[in-house]
Amino acid sequence: MMKNSSIKKRVTLYYAFVMISITLIISLLLSFSIERQISVITKDTLMKAVQNSFEDIEYENQIIEIDNDFDAYVKGVTLLVYSESGNLVKGSVPTDFPSYTPLSTGDYQELETDEHIWLIYDQFHTYENGQGLWVRGIYAMDDATDTLAALRRILNFTLPVILIVAILAGHRITKRAFDPVIEITEAANSINYGQDLSKRLPQSQTKDEIYDLTETLNNMIGRLDEAFKAEKHFSSDVSHELKTPLAVILAECEYILQQDREANEYKESLETIQAQTQRTMSMVQQLLQISRSINKENAIEKEVFPLSMLAESLVEELSIVAEEQGVQIIGEIEPDIEISADETLIMRVMMNLMTNGIKYRKQDIDNAYVKISIKQTNNQIFISVSDNGIGIAEEDQANVFRRFYKVDKSRNRQGESFGLGLAMVKWIVEAHDGSISVESRVGEGSTFTVTLPKE
Ligand code: ADP
Repeated sequence: MMKNSSIKKRVTLYYAFVMISITLIISLLLSFSIERQISVITKDTLMKAVQNSFEDIEYENQIIEIDNDFDAYVKGVTLLVYSESGNLVKGSVPTDFPSYTPLSTGDYQELETDEHIWLIYDQFHTYENGQGLWVRGIYAMDDATDTLAALRRILNFTLPVILIVAILAGHRITKRAFDPVIEITEAANSINYGQDLSKRLPQSQTKDEIYDLTETLNNMIGRLDEAFKAEKHFSSDVSHELKTPLAVILAECEYILQQDREANEYKESLETIQAQTQRTMSMVQQLLQISRSINKENAIEKEVFPLSMLAESLVEELSIVAEEQGVQIIGEIEPDIEISADETLIMRVMMNLMTNGIKYRKQDIDNAYVKISIKQTNNQIFISVSDNGIGIAEEDQANVFRRFYKVDKSRNRQGESFGLGLAMVKWIVEAHDGSISVESRVGEGSTFTVTLPKE
């Protein structure tokens, strides 16, 4: 089962955890280093006070002389002078200090009583006469411990505050970051349930990752929208195109069956029905062809093939049919051009364009021609098919590539013009990342130019 945990919650917890860890580490380091520092400073003060005190104490002929300069209380250090046998000679023991504490040289002693923590440093000094004196320095560590206690109090208070602030801030930040995601989800749901692909997701004001995401999704919805519309159009076009011949067939049947007829009338009727059926059949075939190639969209089988050579043989093949119709096929093909593309589809492009040239020739001239020229640059190949046929009016030029678009609607009834050929050509060219354009003048002729990338 999938664990249900929102990113918001996870980020907030993670953020709080990181903040707490950082503050905890910093405060531990801080209190530790302050404690150390305080201890170093106090020990140093204590030792210096004791050492310096000897400068003010003279000891001659059993008489201890203490200078007026001698200060029994230096920088918080209480100084006591003891005889060699340990009797207090000078100074007064602070109240609460346990006076029986034995003298010992060389090291610091720490002593804890009810009210204070004492740091003690004793030193024995031997004078020229061979006798010596003790000086004891006592330091009440109250200031230091107070400081540390204060620091701990501050940390005890600030840690929970930082924790709360971190959680709140983390929550706010992630909420702000994820609000747009929730909005997008809601909008996407409304598109989903309303099945309204004309709607778009709300775009954020700032150009951030979310903006890119919504833009991508919107483009996707746009494409789906177009695809669905095209699909709807297509089916309605197909039904419309199929309806016409079927209506003719039906009408013909009804007419002939109204009463008894002569044999030749039946024959005529059957011929009409046959023609319409044939027409319907060939349209269905073309549609099937289109749908097969479109379904192949993701698998255009590209391979390198000799375009020039295949185009030459196509010219030869078509010439035979074309000459019967009084059309000359001219090839102006640069030799040895190769292309990486789907061979069958590219051949169909050339075939469709050339047969159109033959189909839409002018009937009353004797020099009708269709010319195919192929040339290349470093990275592009140009295939252009031109004729001196009937031409296409400017307002029709943009439409001839649409499915089921026919300039001359009356051709509908006869022949095999369904307006599907150029739609197919355009689809193939674009599936190869190429482009197609048309130039034409009514009564003069047309030129279709296909541009394809070599690779
Ligand atoms: P079809 O030829 O089956 O009707 P196409 O898609 O091949 O369908 O062409 C669409 C329309 O474009 C044709 O009906 C015709 O009117 C026009 N057309 C195409 N090629 C030419 C051409 N070479 N000269 C004049 N008109 C043309």
